[in-house]
Amino acid sequence: MIDYQLANVEAMKIAVHLHRRLETDLTMQVDVYSAIEALDVDLAFLPLAQLSGAYLPASNETGGRPGILINSKHPRSRQRYSAGHELGHHVRDGARLGRLVDRDTEVHARSAALVKDQTEATAEAFAAWFLMPRALVAHFLRTLGIGGEPTAMQVYRLSLSLGTSYVAALEHLHTLRVVTLPVRNRLAKVTPRWIKSQLAVHGPADSWGDVWLVTEDDHPRSFLSPRSGDEIVVELKEVPSSGYVWDLVEPPNHLEMVASEFEDDAAGRVQVYGGEGRRRIVFRAARPGHERVKLAMSRPWEPNRQPVRSFALDVRVEPRIETALLPVV
Ligand SMILES: [Zn+2]
Repeated sequence: MIDYQLANVEAMKIAVHLHRRLETDLTMQVDVYSAIEALDVDLAFLPLAQLSGAYLPASNETGGRPGILINSKHPRSRQRYSAGHELGHHVRDGARLGRLVDRDTEVHARSAALVKDQTEATAEAFAAWFLMPRALVAHFLRTLGIGGEPTAMQVYRLSLSLGTSYVAALEHLHTLRVVTLPVRNRLAKVTPRWIKSQLAVHGPADSWGDVWLVTEDDHPRSFLSPRSGDEIVVELKEVPSSGYVWDLVEPPNHLEMVASEFEDDAAGRVQVYGGEGRRRIVFRAARPGHERVKLAMSRPWEPNRQPVRSFALDVRVEPRIETALLPVV
């Protein structure tokens, strides 16, 4: 019999304690891989056939160091969750239980029947609490302007900020009592694929890719961490009759602009003078690296183009697959 309540409370305590020890910045996506390295645990990404991840306690075989293996073929959010799960084994179980292999991680939301025992239930809960500490979730809810009952699209946007899957974020919002059980059950029926199709203009490079929406209502400190191939849609208010148009201040190095189009809020209705609309500037994350993309609103025909408004987004494009971390075997 698995005591989920106990697993949850124990996992939360261990995660809170570890974040304190690591002095984690709880206003940024949790860097689980840096945490693993900070604890002197070896980390490797391997194309595993049947496993999500594994924890290898320190032994002669491992050169006296503990190690964590992650399946390099899994999507990024799943890899991060597996890394959290294995880190949970390291912190809680250490060498006590020997080698631990995990066929499945991030299972709780899919089926509780997939959780094997108390140890696994705690490792799963630890991954959730470590990647989604209460203070960080509250921070992102604020910066994304989410108050009250979130929509599926808002949960998706939150999951991108947290670096987890939609399902894992939704499940944890329920644990945190941000959403009630009926809301959780309703939102669980919505697929990320559908949400992405609603947000996308051209769509990401492949079905694993994500679509990041950025609006003026977002907090100025919002930070995006797309992978190469992801789509970024920036929506900014524009008044066509004013002649002011949003445009890039300079071409970005790590993103490619694929479209800049205007959508009339009154589309299909009678256009009123001074009616508002939205400029939608669409980017494709191209080359890994960090940059600040600046946009300004000015009149294109004016010689010095003095901007009346400006907007910036911090973007860190991550590599497509973490092959750079593959060890030489
Ligand atoms: Zn496990």
